[in-house]
Amino acid sequence: MIFTEEHDALRKTVSDFVDKELDPHVDEWEKAGRAPLHDIFKKMGNLGLLGISKPVEYGGMGLDYSYQLAFAEEIGRAFGGSVPMAIGVQTDMCTPALARFGNDALKREFLEPSLAGDLVGCIGVSEPGAGSDVAGLKTHAKSDGDDYIINGSKMWITNATQADWVCLLANTGDGPVHANKSLIMVPMNTKGITVSDPIDKIGMRASDTGQIFFDDVRVPKSNCIGEENKGFIYQMMQFQEERMFAAASGLKSMERCIELTIDYTRERQIFGESLLNNQSVYFKMAELQTEVEALRALTWSACDQHIAGQDATKLASMAKLKLGRLWRQLSDECLQYWGGMGFTWDNPLSRAYRDTRILSIAGGADEVMMSIIAKYMDIMPDRKPR
Ligand SMILES: Cc1cc2nc3c(=O)[nH]c(=O)nc-3n(C[C@H](O)[C@H](O)[C@H](O)COP(=O)(O)OP(=O)(O)OC[C@H]3O[C@@H](n4cnc5c(N)ncnc54)[C@H](O)[C@@H]3O)c2cc1C
Repeated sequence: MIFTEEHDALRKTVSDFVDKELDPHVDEWEKAGRAPLHDIFKKMGNLGLLGISKPVEYGGMGLDYSYQLAFAEEIGRAFGGSVPMAIGVQTDMCTPALARFGNDALKREFLEPSLAGDLVGCIGVSEPGAGSDVAGLKTHAKSDGDDYIINGSKMWITNATQADWVCLLANTGDGPVHANKSLIMVPMNTKGITVSDPIDKIGMRASDTGQIFFDDVRVPKSNCIGEENKGFIYQMMQFQEERMFAAASGLKSMERCIELTIDYTRERQIFGESLLNNQSVYFKMAELQTEVEALRALTWSACDQHIAGQDATKLASMAKLKLGRLWRQLSDECLQYWGGMGFTWDNPLSRAYRDTRILSIAGGADEVMMSIIAKYMDIMPDRKPR
């Protein structure tokens, strides 16, 4: 991957945004249990940061995906994973399929204002009974003339309590489970939608996660993205951007934890010298930095394939798997050197320790990533089709 001056300029804009608009408020948002997404997204929309690799006709910058991953690395620097995750939902989880397969009217109604930061989106895939097993979801959109009538519920939805619309994966047909689903754009103020109170989580405290209920929700069939019953395939494609974004957004964040730990252990005197002077400590910092560089190489390799129009699923899944494992290991091992300070609630390392637990669960658990990788290695046993 060759980076240009434009990549550097973009990185600087994003990094300044993190320093000025996110970091000073993160503690307050963590305590409140939510971040003001409409305010944050509007500021980002004004800078063009919500549509870096989205089409110019709808207000995007039309740049290739390497710029989006440079953005992800920088936005991930924020002190706390909640807001970068909310932003990632908007840029890389609920809009890629709309931008790629949506018709012009849908893009005018939902994509354009979302890139401008006027609307907040969310992605509705998981359900109480279907998380890892996406194909097993039960929410259905029944045909009724020119409309769908939607019934069911979606669980664990990031941005749910603030979202203006949901990109919903629902059953629309009677065919096999991989060919009976559609992605449907549903405004959240449609009659019949209710949202739970935010779910109380161990980490990502400033992210509002909720359950969405659909009770005879009527939307026009023209809100279907692309072809009806191709939603499962579109969602699997959309997951690749989600996974690359997640991996990239962890890189600088992990490096920030290493830097903080180096600074702390250099200052902290134990047995008459800096804690950092112990070989076990500086070797650990060197080893963790090496691991981060290895993940960076893997993530950018996936990006290369994606930009070349090749199938990046295997490398993106590997990057997501490695992200979850490494981030959890790194936050735990760095926290150790902070002693009791690392065990206090407001310590940046303890926040990282809590926030990163989710990375091996959400967006496809580690085992789901390994299943995908094993399929690509052609070593998965055959299972009967459902
Ligand atoms: C904070 C948070 C935010 C989220 N945001 C969103 C969102 O915005 N939109 C959305 O649609 N979803 C979202 N999710 C849902 C998330 O994607 C699911 O939690 C995840 O896919 C796992 O599903 P599950 O919780 O139902 O666990 P289950 O599917 O019940 O899996 C439980 C565990 O089983 C194990 N497992 C799974 N498959 C296998 C296997 N083949 N072999 C062995 N073990 C296996 C894994 O360890 C897994 O953690 C979010 C979740 C959380 C917690």
